[in-house]
Amino acid sequence: MQISANLPSPSGDKSHFANKTKYNSAMITENTLADLHSHTTASDGQLTPSLLLERALEKGVELLAITDHDTVAGLDEAHAFNAGQSAPLTLVDGVEISTRWHAYDIHIVALDIDRHDENLLAFLERQRELREERAREIGARLEKAGIPGAYEGARALAGDAALSRGHYARFLAEQGHAPDSASVFKKFLGRGKTGYVPNNWGEMATAIEVIHNAGGVAVLAHPSGYQLSAKWLKRLVREFKAAGGDAMEVVLGQQTTDDRNNLGALATLNGLYASVGSDFHFPGRWLELGKNLYRPQGLNWVWQCKQWTITK
Ligand code: AMP
Ligand code: MN
Ligand code: MN
Ligand code: MN
Repeated sequence: MQISANLPSPSGDKSHFANKTKYNSAMITENTLADLHSHTTASDGQLTPSLLLERALEKGVELLAITDHDTVAGLDEAHAFNAGQSAPLTLVDGVEISTRWHAYDIHIVALDIDRHDENLLAFLERQRELREERAREIGARLEKAGIPGAYEGARALAGDAALSRGHYARFLAEQGHAPDSASVFKKFLGRGKTGYVPNNWGEMATAIEVIHNAGGVAVLAHPSGYQLSAKWLKRLVREFKAAGGDAMEVVLGQQTTDDRNNLGALATLNGLYASVGSDFHFPGRWLELGKNLYRPQGLNWVWQCKQWTITK
């Protein structure tokens, strides 16, 4: 794909999505509505890959990455559905990989990977084994705390999908242990709480190497979502870059202007490309595919990175 050198419109300028000329799929321009972080029922999203694609098309998303937790299982269905559309969008193969950094769960979004890469697939299989071990341990801890059957409940919600704390949160909220998923995290699943299992993920550098070997771009996911102090956030971004990382998410679905500006500055300071993603999991009141993803000027975007190869 030829990449436009045009830089995006200013932050907060909502008009740049309006009155645009028909999307030219050979180019990504400042007007392209891009959303490079989303989940399906292959992990803890609530829409099937087909329904996610349908919704993205409805919302006018033109460049979409599906980035399920530690699995690429949703991508084939998504491609098949997209190919059946009269006006398909540009679908980017992705995956969100859990890693460990100083006891924190740090997520790395891989974009434009070869989803058939054997080394990547073996790595993801191991990640899912670790997920399953952790999920059972979470269940055991909750049981000790007087909540039996949570593993089975979360598993029933997940079906065959890679089990995530998101499933536990839904189950516990549905069972009335807290009003919503966010409260479940505060009460049971967050760091240091009863159901929290100290993480056993691999190093960031290992995941980055696997991503690169599969031809992908390694993106630090939602850097402001880890509740790090300013000092530790700077350190995370610096060490992610040093570990071989290429880009970081700067434009998120829900964030303040200050957060966006701060992340943009960190990307520039560390020579990282900027990415954009809603982290959509389900249709909700606040978060939507492609929504609020205004790209500020003056940043280098992830699709300008040398590994980015997407062609129609
Ligand atoms: P895991 O990858 O299993 O550690 O689970 C992380 C997932 O849990 C995230 O991708 C979200 O889907 C969900 N999650 C994390 N924090 C929260 C929160 N505070 N409220 C609701 N869901 C959350
Ligand atoms: Mn999730
Ligand atoms: Mn994440
Ligand atoms: Mn995510």
